Amino acid sequence: MAAGLLVVLSGPSGVGKGTVCRRLLHLRPSLQLSRSLTTRHPRPGEEDGRDYDFTTLARFQKLISNDAFLEWAVVYGHYYGTLQKTVEESLARGTDLLLEIDIQGALQVRRRLAEAVLIFLAPPSMEALRTRIAGRGTEDALHINRRLQEAQHELAAYHLYDYLVVNDRVEDAAASISAIIEAEKCKVSRGVRPPGWGGDER
Ligand code: 5GP
Repeated sequence: MAAGLLVVLSGPSGVGKGTVCRRLLHLRPSLQLSRSLTTRHPRPGEEDGRDYDFTTLARFQKLISNDAFLEWAVVYGHYYGTLQKTVEESLARGTDLLLEIDIQGALQVRRRLAEAVLIFLAPPSMEALRTRIAGRGTEDALHINRRLQEAQHELAAYHLYDYLVVNDRVEDAAASISAIIEAEKCKVSRGVRPPGWGGDER
């Protein structure tokens, strides 16, 4: 059985990662979204064990010292991380896994699992990003400008990724990511072989 593919998706806040992920999971039902641990509190409508595993700082720090994370990072003052064991088990079962994580985390995955596929989701323009962040209605002008500055900074990391996808239309962005996954799964360098091929016939 071929090992599953590890797909990492990052992009600036407000770019629409959540919406694109939902569409992508609809297109590829066999893809599994990894659930992270976080020390932040659940937002209204979020559920422990579904959206995140919400945990205490003490437990998170214990897991860090036990080297239990494939990657972890502090984002906007809260800890977020992906457990190594969960990823290993999924990939060994042949399940393709999607990690929706920040740039610091994505680069740790790259260092530890060279075969991971890193995809950067970018807004069609800074103006479009401003409109999206402002459209959420939860941020004042100061916060919007701060988020845009952070987004500029984050965009500069795109060249550390394998693929760049622009989220102009959600359907198109999700279809592009799905096509990337399809192509990666056919890569000979990943160890795919013709059916019935023993492996030494070259
Ligand atoms: P939120 O709190 O809005 O759900 O997520 C905030 C940020 O944390 C997002 O950029 C999201 O991609 C990132 N994030 C969520 N889970 C993880 C994780 O396990 N590891 C890392 N490094 N970032 C994460």
